[in-house]
Amino acid sequence: MIDQQGRTIEYMRVSVTDRCNLRCVYCMPAGGVTCVRHDDILTYDEITRICRIGAELGISRIKLTGGEPLVRRGLPELLGMIRRLPGIEQVTLTTNGILLKEKINELVSNGLDSVNISIDTLDGNRYREITRGGELNKVLSGIETALKVPSLKVKINCVPMTETPRQEYIRLARLARDHEMDVRFIEMMPIGLGRKYGYVSGRQIYQTLKNEFGEAKRCSGRFGNGPAVYVCFPGFIGKIGFIDAVSHQFCEKCNRVRLTSEGYLKPCLQYGAGTDLRDLMRSGADDGIIRDEMRRTIYDKPACHHFGECACGKASGKNASDGMKQDNGEMKYETRDMSQIGG
Ligand code: SAM
Ligand code: SF4
Repeated sequence: MIDQQGRTIEYMRVSVTDRCNLRCVYCMPAGGVTCVRHDDILTYDEITRICRIGAELGISRIKLTGGEPLVRRGLPELLGMIRRLPGIEQVTLTTNGILLKEKINELVSNGLDSVNISIDTLDGNRYREITRGGELNKVLSGIETALKVPSLKVKINCVPMTETPRQEYIRLARLARDHEMDVRFIEMMPIGLGRKYGYVSGRQIYQTLKNEFGEAKRCSGRFGNGPAVYVCFPGFIGKIGFIDAVSHQFCEKCNRVRLTSEGYLKPCLQYGAGTDLRDLMRSGADDGIIRDEMRRTIYDKPACHHFGECACGKASGKNASDGMKQDNGEMKYETRDMSQIGG
């Protein structure tokens, strides 16, 4: 459907859990967050219902995310339930890859179209530091297994950190040189704990890669569902993508909304505003009411974020619900961590 800015909204990121088996320093506090109670997260039937109604409104692509989606039991079944819905053309997954090797067959047989695997460094010690204990080898076996599935598109997501040696980005980019996969660099956004870290711009990463691999050409065509700009370096099999969420605002082309694991439909990452669909569903609302609320929420999607101003760092909320309130009609900035919102 079309929002009030005239943008076509066709993509929904669905968080299935706020729990995670890692504790990345920019995403989750060391001790974890107070997890949403089991009864408070949406059931698979509730998620599928929202996706079905979303599909009627023009949502055709779904991304399953979290927290870590693969820690929720039965995730491949949910994937299959959504993939079979009329109007849903693609279901993809974003994962830290730790459990990917053991789940890949079930995921693929349930219709997984594409997987994004987050890995910020290929240095095992640095990986352990960033993720607070993660084992790089598990992720690498997950990537290796994913690459063996011919029908599966594989992408690597890296969020560069100012203290990571530049050489690390060259090592990651070599994955795209040597394999049929894309490697994307995502600027650190000032959301949740990400506010504590500076971002390394896509431009800086490109310069580093250019010095190593030579000038790249901009790839034409549409790749994926998002705002990534892709370039092709000479001799590379895969592409390199840049998601410059901070240095280059791309809100005018934004095509997405988010559903949190508690059933909160969020039209923009930076703002707390949205609609509590769980409450509606559990109080007996019929599909027509839910459709109307989803339509209204999507239509009202804010024109743009203000990451550049970083006012979000001064948001006043202290807990999760503060991040959702509106104040005198003005939208409050999101105060929760990325793992709670659904990254
Ligand atoms: N656990 C899964 C994973 O790590 O891929 C899915 C959820 S995670 C929140 C999704 C993505 O958000 C990851 O690639 C992570 O690196 C990224 N992310 C988390 N916090 C971020 C921030 N402040 N700015 C940019 N990306 C962030
Ligand atoms: Fe977990 Fe993903 Fe957040 Fe890392 S980025 S703590 S893997 S949810």
